[in-house]
Amino acid sequence: MATILDGKSLAAKLKEEIKAEVSLLKSGGTEPKLAVILVGDDPASHVYVRNKKRDCEDVGILSESITLPANTEKCELIDIIKSLNNNASVHGILVQLPLPHGLDGTEITQLIAPEKDVDAFSYYNVGRIMTGDYSFVPCTPAGCMELIKLSGISVEGKNCVVIGRSNIVGKPMAMLLLRENGTVTVCHSRTKNLSEVTRRADILVAAVGKPKFFHADDIKEGAVVIDVGIHRMEDGHLCGDVDYADVAPKASLITPVPGGVGPMTIAMLMHNCVDRAARRCHE
Ligand code: NAP
Repeated sequence: MATILDGKSLAAKLKEEIKAEVSLLKSGGTEPKLAVILVGDDPASHVYVRNKKRDCEDVGILSESITLPANTEKCELIDIIKSLNNNASVHGILVQLPLPHGLDGTEITQLIAPEKDVDAFSYYNVGRIMTGDYSFVPCTPAGCMELIKLSGISVEGKNCVVIGRSNIVGKPMAMLLLRENGTVTVCHSRTKNLSEVTRRADILVAAVGKPKFFHADDIKEGAVVIDVGIHRMEDGHLCGDVDYADVAPKASLITPVPGGVGPMTIAMLMHNCVDRAARRCHE
């Protein structure tokens, strides 16, 4: 039976470290601050923003939520982002995605100043991830890498298979594994014989966005399985892209859902914000 990669406890530990760093920064006169822009009525987005705010407050990061109606004009949103870019008391800016119809998330996130782009969605930060010389990494892949590292798993020379090629998860995840000298394969919806590829993975990262998509037959004996997916089923319970009950007996290490990648994602968001405040302090 696999050992559980407990993201909840690791994130709690990271939060304690971040809290200590925030307190140090505050004693030196810097108050880390995150601004979160939420446009529209998407209930899931409201929950995510509320949770981010709560977690920030837990560690002492000031958090400002800017909530706007779904019919917000693009020019109004641009003005708000520009003003946050120019506000020296704000260290991180995040636009909660998806944006309502009529507002292009990719276009809008490009307006955030790269040095405040805590989600690392700007082309500048994406480019730096490609070169391996980065200061910000998107929070979910960063959280997966922290889980891997803190669990003492070496990536070097391992066959790493990432399923999913989104800009938010799959592509940056592949780059981070490559930087750690993994031999990386990226799969997507047009990949042929997917199961053949996944069965060769020493480290499998599932970011396919389909509940319980991967079963024991898709996994190599003893693989490390990182499940990025998160889905609420009809009966209300949460599950990932991996059929946990089926896969866990075959894997060596596995992240649960909930309590795996999710809490690490929020921890990395706070880390990115505090890191930026600390860098500003030393500039
Ligand atoms: P996404 O943008 O929908 O991307 C899904 C990827 O899976 C795409 O690249 C797609 O291929 C690929 N795919 C779809 N069907 C496939 C199939 N049958 N075989 C192989 N590949 C297939 O999703 P995402 O934003 O990357 O998120 C992935 C999952 O992670 C979702 O469940 C999301 O809710 C979750 N998530 C969790 C966190 C967290 O903090 N835990 C954060 C972000 C996302 P194509 O490119 O060819 O379409």
